[in-house]
Amino acid sequence: MPNIVVVGAGVSGLTSAYLLSKDAANTITVVAKHMPGDYDIEYASPWAGANVLPMATKASSRWERQTWPELKKLAEEVPEAGIHKMKSRVYRREKDLEKLRNGGYAFDGLFLEDPWYKTLFDDFRELSKDELPRDVASGAEFTSVCINTMLYLPWLVGKCRANGVVFKRGVLKHISEAVTLSQTGSKVDLVVNTTGLMASRLGGVLDRDVMPVRGQIVVVRNEAPYMVTKSGTDDAEDEVFYVMMRAAGGGTILGGTYQKGQWESQPDPNIAMRIMKRAVEMVPELADGKGVQGLDVVRHGVGLRPYRNGGVRLEKERIDGTWVVHNYGHAGWGYQGSYGCAERVVELAAEALTQAKL
Ligand code: FAD
Repeated sequence: MPNIVVVGAGVSGLTSAYLLSKDAANTITVVAKHMPGDYDIEYASPWAGANVLPMATKASSRWERQTWPELKKLAEEVPEAGIHKMKSRVYRREKDLEKLRNGGYAFDGLFLEDPWYKTLFDDFRELSKDELPRDVASGAEFTSVCINTMLYLPWLVGKCRANGVVFKRGVLKHISEAVTLSQTGSKVDLVVNTTGLMASRLGGVLDRDVMPVRGQIVVVRNEAPYMVTKSGTDDAEDEVFYVMMRAAGGGTILGGTYQKGQWESQPDPNIAMRIMKRAVEMVPELADGKGVQGLDVVRHGVGLRPYRNGGVRLEKERIDGTWVVHNYGHAGWGYQGSYGCAERVVELAAEALTQAKL
């Protein structure tokens, strides 16, 4: 019986544990400093919107492509997962398209003209000129999903527990400490490392390519008629615009920022004001035309996206004699790539366990 310890209980750890637990032969223990229900600057998952707006630049990228059908199915068939379908609009400004063509923008894939993902969504369509707001050169509309992370993360915990996964709190200084942390107390055959941003500080990993991309948000009670994002803002290079409404009363998320290398955990009130202004300007219906005064704020928040130079790390490595499968560095697409990445974890785990037997 393979004895597996997953370090981390964000969306990457929980989805990895869930898919691994579908094989009844696996004994799985999830160990994490933070669990669903916690809000902490070292824990990205609760802060995410979270919706599906593809960011990969190539159609061949499997992470988002393989995840979409799973999240769509949950939205359609599993109400308790806390995911719903919503129309989404993506607006491209001419000045950002110029930047994009010169290769310098954070969300490159999303704002591509003629994007690969037009075939991913059943109802993808380009907007006509008269449907576009002022200062927008082109845009598209499709039905995506929005995840209420406050419901979805506990739902994943429940699915894991139903399959026998045991959850424990623990703080590791070195990844090799995981070999002593199985629910059985016996020898661990495989460790899965899903520590997100903190892979940059975990002994045995210390990944210097991992850094935060700070995302400041405002959560409001107001309802949004659709989700919308724009390729840039005039306020600052690292300020972005998006609005999405979470399923089942989770509130509407107004974003945001994309500040590379910034660790500041406290919301900046000036940025918060600009986020709210941009939201009511683009979607006046949000506040019944009353502007910022018409917004009913639940909370201000900051999350750090676990960005990695060179992209996500999905590979196996032998550390101190035990196989470790890494699954971290998902930046701003951890949910929308979660199933694709966790499926790769299952493949890598099988390879590692076979090699361990040889
Ligand atoms: P995390 O959620 O950070 O989890 C890491 C886990 O590892 C935690 O349990 C932590 O306690 C544990 N851990 C770390 N170090 C140790 C240690 N030494 N010992 C024990 N445990 C440890 N993604 C989308 O797909 N769609 C979106 O719309 C979206 N919007 C976002 C908006 C914002 C504002 C932010 C901040 C992020 C957004 N994201 C979105 C990105 C998404 O949130 C992340 O990619 C994802 O949550 C990363 O999950 P993770 O499990 O890899 O890391």
